[in-house]
Order: sequence, then structure tokens, then C-alpha cells
Amino acid sequence: MPARRIRVRGIVQGVGFRPFVYRLAHANGLTGWVLNGQNGVEIHIEGDETALDRFTAALRHDTPHAAQISSVTVETVRPEQITAFEIRHSDRTGAPSTRISPDLPVCEDCLSELFNPTDRRYLYAYINCTNCGPRFSIIESLPYDRVRTTMRAWAMDEFCARQYDDPLDRRFHAQPIACPCCGPRYLLECDGMLEGGIAGIVGAAELLRHGRIIAVKGIGGYHLSCDALNAEAVIALRYRKFRREKPFAVMTANLDIAREIVDLRPAAEELLLSNARPIVLAPAKINLPGVAPDHHELGVMLPYAPLHHLLFAAGAPDILVMTSANRSSEPIAYRDDDARERLAGIADAFLIGERPITRRVDDSVARAGIFGAAVLRRSRGYAPGAVATFPQSRPVLALGVDLKNAITLAVDGQAFVSQHIGDLDQFDCRHAFQETVRDFLCMYRIPLEDTVIAHDLHPEYSSTQLALDLRGSTHIPVQHHRAHIASVLAEREAWERRVVGISFDGTGYGDDGRIWGGEFFTGSIAEGFTRVLHLRNAQLIGGDAAARSPVQCAAGFLFQLDGTPNLLEPPFHFPRRYTDCLELASTQLRTFETSSVGRLFDTAAALCGFTRDITFEGQAAIWLEELARKSPPADPYPFPVTDNTLDFRPLLSALIEDRSAGMDPVVLARRFHAALASALWQAAAGFCAQNSTDLLVLSGGVFQNELLLADIASRANRSGIEVWTNNAVPSNDGGISLGQAAIACFASQNISYCP
Ligand code: ZN
Ligand code: FE
Repeated sequence: MPARRIRVRGIVQGVGFRPFVYRLAHANGLTGWVLNGQNGVEIHIEGDETALDRFTAALRHDTPHAAQISSVTVETVRPEQITAFEIRHSDRTGAPSTRISPDLPVCEDCLSELFNPTDRRYLYAYINCTNCGPRFSIIESLPYDRVRTTMRAWAMDEFCARQYDDPLDRRFHAQPIACPCCGPRYLLECDGMLEGGIAGIVGAAELLRHGRIIAVKGIGGYHLSCDALNAEAVIALRYRKFRREKPFAVMTANLDIAREIVDLRPAAEELLLSNARPIVLAPAKINLPGVAPDHHELGVMLPYAPLHHLLFAAGAPDILVMTSANRSSEPIAYRDDDARERLAGIADAFLIGERPITRRVDDSVARAGIFGAAVLRRSRGYAPGAVATFPQSRPVLALGVDLKNAITLAVDGQAFVSQHIGDLDQFDCRHAFQETVRDFLCMYRIPLEDTVIAHDLHPEYSSTQLALDLRGSTHIPVQHHRAHIASVLAEREAWERRVVGISFDGTGYGDDGRIWGGEFFTGSIAEGFTRVLHLRNAQLIGGDAAARSPVQCAAGFLFQLDGTPNLLEPPFHFPRRYTDCLELASTQLRTFETSSVGRLFDTAAALCGFTRDITFEGQAAIWLEELARKSPPADPYPFPVTDNTLDFRPLLSALIEDRSAGMDPVVLARRFHAALASALWQAAAGFCAQNSTDLLVLSGGVFQNELLLADIASRANRSGIEVWTNNAVPSNDGGISLGQAAIACFASQNISYCP
């Protein structure tokens, strides 16, 4: 009797994989066993050869919905003369390197039970099974068992226990299993009144219908919710949350309603329905006053927790604003007491679920972009998934940078990228950052002494300081923009590919201590990247604070131009602060040199009319892109290479001249975009030829600009050059830790390591 030993790696634990194997073995008349091992699922099967083949093929293809197989190895072994097939107890010694599943949306089976009046879990907000439900957001430590989740406070009743123990049941070992008799509930708190269960949810739906603002506990934290069609409620929410202009995301009751309010291409629809259930940015078809002012796109998501489905079924408005529950840029609230305290002046009522959340996991944000799916914020549904397999097993911890922080831990070669943490200038975010580092090291039981620690070059970053405080085996500083380029290549596991890499963003510490952000490189992850061209240095007046004022940025660039008209006068209307800044520039007091393309965008925005301060990061650049979208394609402004730098002076002179001549700013904005695309492409094509490569890599926050990408794509189509951008991690600083980890992994290869 032939026998095989099969090892399956990937997301294969806590997703119904063993019952699936059990059923598959039974269906094929095979005997043997299955267990959760340290590195995935291990299977032993015995039977006749054709049945073994059928089993092995089905294993790869008919996998449970939530499982993600990264590898299957099959080996012929000696038969153990087993007479039945069984699920064996897990072998749980040593460090777990198995992957933790991200949180999953409620599945179709659970949904139909949720709305079936004869089902025990009818209208029960915590329904789940092995194919769906929370994972990462409730896990306290590994291995994944109920006692190590936030469900440990609720003992299963007989009904749930029977399903939990039955290998043929959909809830076999569903760790968060619960029912209305034994599990947690939702409670509505409003004006000192408490209402539990479905009555509370119905009450919340009614409050929403009446234009009230409700704090709703979800999977990874609280949302603030209100009727998106009720402009008064939306404005009140903005006012109370201190969020003047930054767009809100909405949740629609179902896909049909999403289709009515945004233009969904098939790729966008696929993202919307994907397991991560991200907020998807798509062109708006209707105007929801106050929701996403001055944006052509709207962020839409579908219900993913059973509670969301219940809210809509209970009569909540079909389109709900669902924004993270915080004040301004604070991190999202996820603990009940903290939410009550911080949201007291914002929410009219609280819909609180009793099941605690272990860690804050924001909604993810994505877009079906011109170069494929682009994740702008990688969090719920994606984290802590692995995004690449590194070619060496030594652990690497990369701590990212201080903006849009996320960390990466490579264990046994698998690079796990954390949830979005936020901006580390916030005290709470700094705290969350330290928690996440500890969390990741504990979950995977990584001894710090063996770990390579990667961090940014910036000596004053909080992330750098923490890195230096950690006692790893080696510390490797990685330059910001090289890490951006490496993040794209790491996603595709292209370690040796020689490329031309362009990294455009707002700010990053350069080799020379200047603030970089308009950088061209050649090289590869394995051999390193050489800076070959950059934006001509301008002045950043007042340092990072300049990023809040486009006019202040403009002064730092325009200082270098001759014959600039008085911009305080029409049509420019710059505020007086501009001349003060020019003065600072001439004295060089509190000014820094920068090659940031982000700041060049701010300058162009100021010249096109954005002369006030911004209220959220990237606002002026987004405003300029929106402006340019209103214009048909236009000729690029001159943007030549002089003295081995991209010279912005002719570009800005021409822009000022056009504006002075009374040309429409929409055309100016369009010509600015064309100039960037054209100059970038020309330089890139030259470097490709010189370095015999036909691969161009783009990364950095500026490449979230789809209009710029479209201009580049149209040039790429006519050439033999292939363009890669980020797909799995953000092209903004949220993706940097992956690139840091990849570069550090190679840089540390020369350093001896015995696992
Ligand atoms: Zn389910
Ligand atoms: Fe950056």
C-alpha cells in the first residue's frame, strides 16, 4: 500500500483546512492523519495510487475559501498500516512560524444562517465559522486556540461545543464560535440607556436614520457612522471630529448600491469583494455633500462584519459614512473605555460589542490602478499576511519610518508586514508602534539576539531610536528612497534584477543629510542602488513644517528664479508670509536643502491657486491632480536635465508666465503633470539603455497620483520598457519597511549566522 507525506504551508491554520483534508480523505477512501504542525499542516495518507493522486490534486485546487497555500511538498513514505483517517492533536513544541490569518469577512453560509429565523444564530452579530470571522484582531498569542483569543472569557455551551468538536461540521475548531446563549452581545448606549442584542442594533439603525452620529465597534476598532445622504449629519461629524476636508469613506448596504454611487471597473469590483474588503477608491457617480469634497473619487466598502449586515437589515440608511473613530489624526479607538472617553463629544450613541479587540486594525484602502491593484493603506484583511519569501532564513525586523509607519518581520524567510500604525509624532501611535514590535516578536517567538534590525537613516526618527534601543545581532540603516524601490522588487521576489528605480515622495533623509524626494537610481537589491540623478535642490524653509504651507514651499523653489513677478498680486494672491519666507531663504536661516518632488507639487499647486494651508497630508498635490483632470491632455512644460539634476526653474518660469498671461489653471496643472511624466520618462529611458535593462521601477507617495501614472503608462506602451509599481504594499511610506527588510537581508548575508 503506497503512502505519502504532504506538507502544506501558507495560511492553512484556523481556516478549516484540517476538516477539509478529513473530508477529502474520506471521499477518496484513504486512511492516515492530519495535524497542525509548526510550519503548516502535515498530512499522512495511505491508499491506492490513483486515489492518492486525486487527493493530492484536489488539495491544491479545492481549498477552503479563506486558505492561501504558499507551498505543497509531497514525499513518498513508508505506510503506517493505519485503518482510518483521523485529525491528530497538534505537535506544538518550538516556535510557530505558521502564518496568522488576516481577519475575514462573514461568509455566505453564515449570512444565510444569520437571516434564517429557524437558525440558532438568527440575527446574532457574532456568527462565524472556520471560513470566516475575526482572526488577527482577536488573537493574543500563538498557536491559534480559543484560550489565546479574546473569546476566552466566554465558555462554549453544549450546542457550540458539539459543532466545535465535529470534524464534519463547518465550525470544527472555529475558535471564535459562539451563539446567543453562550457568546458576547452588542449593546446600544444612548443617553444613559442600555439596550442589548438585536433591539440595540435596531435602535442604532433608527438613530442613524434620524441623522445621529453613532460610534460602532467593528472588527479592528470603532467607526463613527452617520447617514451619508444627510449633509447636516456629515457636516456635524466633520465639525466634531476636527476633520475639515479629508474625505470620508462610506459603506453601502450591498454591491448594487455601490455600483450606483461609484464607477466600478471589473478590477475595482474584484477588490471590493475580495477577502480583505478594503475601502476602494473609485470615480464618484453622485455627489454626497461634504463626504469627499473636491475629489473625483469616493472611498467605498461593503459590509464585512455580521453586525454591518444586521444594521442595514434593521433599516439603517443604505449609504453610511464609516470613518475611523478618532479625533483628527489620532489613532483609531478600539478599547471600549477609551472610545467612550475620546468620542464623548463626537458620538450621540455607542454601539458596543462585548468581544474585546486585541489590537487596532484600521480599514485598508486600495484602488484598481493603472498598473494593477494599489494598496494605499494596508491593514485589516491584509495584515499580518506574508508578502514575499526572502532567500535566507535569518530573522529580519524592519521598523519603517515615522510617517505612515508599518513594520516588517521576516521569519524563516517569510516577510510579514504589520498593520498600518500611523504617524509616530503622535504619542498614541508611538505607543502602538512599540506594542506592535513587541507583539510581532512575541507572536513568532523571535529571539532578538539573532535578528537583523533595519531602520531608516534619519538619526532623529522615533523609529530609528527604537531600533537602536533594541539589542539585535546587527543594525542596518537603509536609505529611505532605496527602500521604496526595494519594496517593489521584494514584492516580486526579484532580488537580482537590475533596474532603473525612480522614487518620488515628500520627504526622506538622504545620504548627504539633505531631504531627498526626487531620486533616480540604478542597481538591484543584491548589489545595491546608486543614485544617478535627482531633482535640483531647492530650499525647504522651516524644515518639515513647510509641508503644511504650499506657499512656504513655493518660496523655497522660486527663490532661485530670476525675474519672478510680484506673487502677492493678482492672479496669484500669495499671502504676505510668502515674502517673509523669501527673506528667510536669502538669509538661509532655518532652511534645508531638498530635492523633494512632493514639495515641487506643492509649489505648482500654490502657483495654480492653492495658497492656504493644507488640512491633511498630501492635500495640495491631490488638489493639483484633481485640477489637471479637468483639462484635456496638454503639452509638457520644459523640465530639462542641467548639471546632472532635473532643473525645475524653466518649468516654474513657464508656469508663472502662463498664469500671468491669464491661462486657465486647469491647463497649467495638466502641463505640469505632463512635464513630470515626460522628463521622468526621458531620463529613465536613457538610464535603461546605459544599463542594459528594460525594467523601470516606480515608488514613493507621488506615484499614488493616477494621472501621472497614466501619462507614464502611455509612454511605456510605446516602448520596450516594462514598468513595475507597488501592488501588495503601499507605494507611500507604509511600504518602506518591506524594502528595508529586503535590503538588510542581503546586506547581512556576509555576516555569519547559524540558525
Ligand atoms: Zn462563516
Ligand atoms: Fe517616502
